Amino acid sequence: MKLNSYCSIFYLSIILVFTNCTSDEKIFVRDDLKNQENGGDGENTNEGDNTPLFEFSVSGTGIDYIKSTDPDTFLSIDYLGQFEKEIPGVDPTLDSNAYVFEATFTGGKKIGIWCRSNFGTLQRATEYANKLTDKLGKLPVFMRDELNHVAVFSGESRASAEPDGKFFFISDERIDERIADNQLEETVFHETVHVYFEKRYGTSTAWKNAQNADGIFVTEYAEDNPNVEDIPETAIFVYTMVNYPRRLSQNIENWVIENIPNRYEFLETFFED
Ligand SMILES: [Zn+2]
Repeated sequence: MKLNSYCSIFYLSIILVFTNCTSDEKIFVRDDLKNQENGGDGENTNEGDNTPLFEFSVSGTGIDYIKSTDPDTFLSIDYLGQFEKEIPGVDPTLDSNAYVFEATFTGGKKIGIWCRSNFGTLQRATEYANKLTDKLGKLPVFMRDELNHVAVFSGESRASAEPDGKFFFISDERIDERIADNQLEETVFHETVHVYFEKRYGTSTAWKNAQNADGIFVTEYAEDNPNVEDIPETAIFVYTMVNYPRRLSQNIENWVIENIPNRYEFLETFFED
C-alpha cells in the first residue's frame, strides 16, 4: 500500500485537504463532510429549480438512515499488540507503535482497526476500537468485505477514505461527534462507499451517463465533487430506500425517484442482494 501524497490548497478559509494527486485530475476536498458539524440547511424546500435536496447527506439532515437495531455481522474483536502501521491524520504517517486490533465478522471476514499510539494507553485505544465494531457490522456485506482496515488517530475532527489502500481513517473527535448525533453508522457507510465504489465507478461511463441523464444532485456536496462524492452521497439514500422502504420520509423518497432515477437504478442493483 502506498500512501497518497498530500497537497495543500486554499479552499474557502484555507483548509488542509487530503487528495489523491496521482489518479484524479481534479483536486477535491478529501476531508469528508468537513463542514457538517455546524449543521446544514436541512431539507431544501425549493422545487423544480435543479437545487440539491440537502447540503450534505449525513449531518444537517437529521435522518437516521441506519439504525442501531439494524442487523449486525460483527462477532468479536482481538487485540494483537503494538506494530508499525501507516495511520494518516498526524505527521508522520508511519506510527511505529500503533495499537492493532482485529475485528471478526460473519463468514470469517476480518477488518483491522489500527489505533495510533497517540491514544496514549491501550485502554483508550480499546475504547475507540470498540466504538467502531458494530458500525462496521452494519455495512452491506459486499462493502464490508472490501475493507482492509480502519485507521484511527487521536486529534481534530477528520474522516477520509483511502480507496487505494482499501481503508478509511477517522479521528476520535469525529467518532464522538458522530455518536453524539447518532450518525457514526452513516459516516462509516459513507467512507466505505468510497473504498468500494470510487475507483470502480466514480468516473465510469455508466455513472457519468446516469449523472447526465438525471441532471441534478441529491446534495450540494455531491454537486461540488461529482467524481468522488456523488456515489457516497447518493448511495446512503438508495441503500435505505431499497432495504428499509418508508424509513425515509415520503417527500424524500419521491424526490429521489423523480429527480435521480438513473443513479437510483444504478445503485439499486448493488443493495438489493
Ligand atoms: Zn466522501
